[in-house]
Amino acid sequence: SSGAPDVVDALNAAAEEPAADGEHSCRVKGVGCMGLCSVGPMVAVAEPGADLRESTLYREVAPDDAAEIMQHARKPGAGPVARLHCPSDQPFFARQRWVVRENSGIVDPDSFKGYVAVGGYAAMVQALTEMTPQEVINEVTTSGLRGRGGGGYPTGLKWSTVAKMPEGQKYVICNADEGDPGAFMDRAVLESDPHRLLEGMAIAAYAVGANKGYIYIRAEYPLAVERLKTAIRKAKRQGFLGNHICETQFNFDVEIRLGAGAFVCGEETALMASVEGGRGHPRPRPPYPAEYGLWGHPTLINNVETYANIAPIISNGGDWFAGIGTDKSKGTKVFALAGNIVNGGLIEVDMGMTLREIIFDIGGGIPDGKAFKAVQTGGPSGGCVPEAHLDMPVDYDSLKTLGTMMGSGGMIVMDDTANMVDVARFFMEFCMDESCGKCVPCRAGTQQMHGLLDRIAKAEATRADLELLEELCEVVQATSLCGLGQTAPNPVMSTLRYFRHEYEEKLG
Ligand code: SF4
Repeated sequence: SSGAPDVVDALNAAAEEPAADGEHSCRVKGVGCMGLCSVGPMVAVAEPGADLRESTLYREVAPDDAAEIMQHARKPGAGPVARLHCPSDQPFFARQRWVVRENSGIVDPDSFKGYVAVGGYAAMVQALTEMTPQEVINEVTTSGLRGRGGGGYPTGLKWSTVAKMPEGQKYVICNADEGDPGAFMDRAVLESDPHRLLEGMAIAAYAVGANKGYIYIRAEYPLAVERLKTAIRKAKRQGFLGNHICETQFNFDVEIRLGAGAFVCGEETALMASVEGGRGHPRPRPPYPAEYGLWGHPTLINNVETYANIAPIISNGGDWFAGIGTDKSKGTKVFALAGNIVNGGLIEVDMGMTLREIIFDIGGGIPDGKAFKAVQTGGPSGGCVPEAHLDMPVDYDSLKTLGTMMGSGGMIVMDDTANMVDVARFFMEFCMDESCGKCVPCRAGTQQMHGLLDRIAKAEATRADLELLEELCEVVQATSLCGLGQTAPNPVMSTLRYFRHEYEEKLG
C-alpha cells in the first residue's frame, strides 16, 4: 500500500546496470514485512543470511532512490545513503526478539528454497524421522506455549487431548480469521513466511494423528491467500506435503477455506460450521472440538502465531522456549502497534515486557507532542489501559487484572484527544454489527448498549441510562452464548472503570 512493488521494480532495473571492477554484486529479493510499517517501503542491504539488525536499512524509499541505494550497496566502504538511513540499532529493532518473525523481511515468501536455506522444514523432518508423536507433544508441553489466538489455553494439553481420541479421521485447523480492528499480526506472518505455518501445522498433524488440515482465512487478505496457495503448491511438489512426506508413512494435505468477513467465524465452533459449508453460527461447548469437531471428528484448532512457534520449539527444544518470557506466559508475543504512535507496525517481544517499554521505547511514544491517554488491547473483546498502569507486564494473567486481555495482539494507542465514550461506542457498534443473532442477550443487548452509548456520547442521556448500561454489561457478559457476546461489554466496562468522569460529564 505504500508503493513497495514500484521500488522493487526500480531496484531490479538498477541491478541490471553492470557493476564496475571491485564492486559488490547485488541481487534484489522481494520480502515480507520488516516491521516498521510507518516508514515503509523499507529496503535492507544485507549480506546473505544476515538478519535485519545486521543490515543497512532504508526508510520511505521511493523508486527514484533506487539507483543511489544500488550505487552505495555496490561500492565497498561507501556507507549508507544518509538521507534515507534507518538505524538498525534503534530501540524499535534492538529491543525485540524474533522467534515467530525470525524469517520475516528476510526470506522471499514465494520461495521454497529460500525457506529451506534458512533452516525451514528441518524441524518437521526431525519430528517425522527422529521423534514419536508423543515426544513431539512432550516438547510442546515443556515449552509452556499457550494459544496465541487470545484464549491462552495450554497448547500441549490441547494437542494431547486430540491425540488421545480414538484412532480414525482427525483434522487440524488453522484459524487465520483475524478480524479485530487494528490487528494485523497473522496477516504479516502469512504474507512474510507462509511455509512456517505449513510446517507447524504438519508437525501438529503428525503429533495428534491427523492427515488433513484446513486453513480458514478471511478473503480480505488476498496477498496472504495468494502466498499460502503458492507455498502449498511448492511444498507438495517438493514432497513436504501430501502422501509419504519425506519418504515416511505420514500423509498430510492442506486446503484453504475463505471466510466471508464475519468476525464471529473466528470463534472455533462457528469457524468449523463455516468450513463444513454451513452458516457461521457458534454452538454451545462442550462438546469441544478436540472431541467432536469438524464433521464430528476430533479436531485441533490453533491460530497462525501458535503454529508459527512450533518449528523453533522442535528445533531448539521446549526448555529453550520455556526460558523466554514469564513464569506463566512463556515465549514471545507478536503485537500490532497502531493508532497514535510514532513507530506503527509489527513487533515481537518477550512476554512480560511492560506496556510502557512497548509503547515508549519500541513504539517511540506519541506523535505531534501530544500526551498518552490509553492503550486498547485485545480488540473488541479487550479493554483500555490508562497511563497509571503502563508499568504492568504484558502477559495473559496481568492484563486480566486490569480488566482487559492480551487477545491476539492488537494494540491501539490513543493520545489525549481521544474521547473514551466514543471509543466504547465504536467497539460496541462493531460487536453489534458482527453479532450473529443466534442468542438474545448478544443480539438485543449489543443493540441496546450501543443505543445508550450513542445517547451518552450526544449528551442526551440521564444517570438512569448509565445505570441501565452497567446492568446490561453484566447481563450480556453472563448470558451470551459465545465469546463475542460475553466479551462485548469489556470496552465499556474498562472505560467506565478508568474514565468514568468522561461518561458523567455528558449526563443531563
Ligand atoms: Fe451469536 Fe452473539 Fe450469541 Fe455469539 S453471543 S452466538 S455472536 S448472538
